[in-house]
Amino acid sequence: MLKSNPKVVLVVFDGLRPDAINEGDTPNIYRFLGEGRWFRNARSVFPSLTRVASASIATGAYPRQHGIVGNTFHHPTFEPHRPFDSGILEDVVRMENEGERLVSVPTFSELVAMAGKRMAIVHGGGIGSTVTLAPKARDNGHWVYSAHGRNGSLTPEVVAEMERKFGPAPDRSLPLFAVIDRVAGVATEHVLPEVRPDVALFWFPEPDTSSHYIGISAPETLSVLKRCDAHFGRILDTLDRLKIADETTVILLSDHGHISVPKQIDLFDVLAKANFPTALEANDESCLLGIRGRYGGLRLVHRDNRVRSEVVRWLQNQPFVDHLFTADRNGVEGEVPGTFSLKLVGLDHYRSPDIAFVLKSFLEPDSSNRNGWGYSAGEVPVYGGTHGGLHPNELNIVLAVREGRRRDGRDISTPAGLIDVAPTVLDCLGISAAPSMLGSSLLGEFDREASDGNRTRDFVVGTKSFEQSVRIWEEGGRVYIKDGIAQ
Ligand SMILES: [Zn+2]
Repeated sequence: MLKSNPKVVLVVFDGLRPDAINEGDTPNIYRFLGEGRWFRNARSVFPSLTRVASASIATGAYPRQHGIVGNTFHHPTFEPHRPFDSGILEDVVRMENEGERLVSVPTFSELVAMAGKRMAIVHGGGIGSTVTLAPKARDNGHWVYSAHGRNGSLTPEVVAEMERKFGPAPDRSLPLFAVIDRVAGVATEHVLPEVRPDVALFWFPEPDTSSHYIGISAPETLSVLKRCDAHFGRILDTLDRLKIADETTVILLSDHGHISVPKQIDLFDVLAKANFPTALEANDESCLLGIRGRYGGLRLVHRDNRVRSEVVRWLQNQPFVDHLFTADRNGVEGEVPGTFSLKLVGLDHYRSPDIAFVLKSFLEPDSSNRNGWGYSAGEVPVYGGTHGGLHPNELNIVLAVREGRRRDGRDISTPAGLIDVAPTVLDCLGISAAPSMLGSSLLGEFDREASDGNRTRDFVVGTKSFEQSVRIWEEGGRVYIKDGIAQ
């Protein structure tokens, strides 16, 4: 039953793995998970990268619908010679002004505005993630504060006002204590009591940043996670203090997980040495434009399918490659033999690479006895954390919902994921989801469908020298990527 004045608060802890939560380290989160519905099999999207995930949170859809196919991506007409970076606000504004939507399908923030309701975002993470959540924030009358300062928000006047109240953009030295303290301060001392939005989204950039650059299990990462937990408790206390806890649905989530990095692979250097000239900025000599990462991509500058086949065949013989995807052939296989279709994982979009790859990962425990290792393309230190691929610890996310003061705490094993967040927010507010939204509301009958049993489909493709696998969950008409690692 719809409450008289329903509100939604979303709290995102970037890169938080479910197995980091326990009563001793994260008591507030632990208690919340016991009070609400905790979706134990919740999944991020592929590639498991922040901006891709935030666009899926916003749209309830996969990259093939929303078009955010990577943290950066190649856009053949808008930016032919270098990857387009949604973290550069001027480029995003220019793209939208030239008639192309950064995010191709409606976001819940737009539907919230159309229903005459107001949203506020307090974002401590990257600019690209901030704008993909609400690319029309200004037109929609939303309130967006970025801890990056005035250049990080489409509503810089909001940032200016908050800087007068709380001080200049916080210091970003690691761990990001100053940033998460600011996010919590603006959230609890200004947004909830003063702005009083119908929907509030608070994005904490930890434990992700410390996991990357210090380590997933490092003492510093644990200490910043404890501070995140204290801030979560402060947000819940503020709802009680303002007497709006009854009418507020709280959604707690993370955008992706993390695995450890045992080894760096400078893939583009390796490709160049194998006579496939690759560059991060396309030039006349290069045949491949690279998108860097554990998940990454290659664009054929001259759109030459013969070169594509040669590069794929070469990559299939390298020991550090787990997955290769090319344009769709039959829904499962890609055009190049032994590759998966980009469509199988919801990644076929004109901005997608011609060859998408995932570097190798392993299920074995890492040095601190937590599951998951994976090679990285050189952006984080050895012993740091990374994500982007199809390892279960990259894809498994925290996802839990608590409706008002209702305490119907249970663990739900039904597959769920980021695509269900937007339909849930809209359901709380009594607003119909957009036809492009592929998920379902996590409230109400969501887990009843589990009685039918969900269907896991295993896909394997390969050649004589290369084999890769992906497992897809189908549940109640929804589709999630379970994992993609050889068992
Ligand atoms: Zn992230």
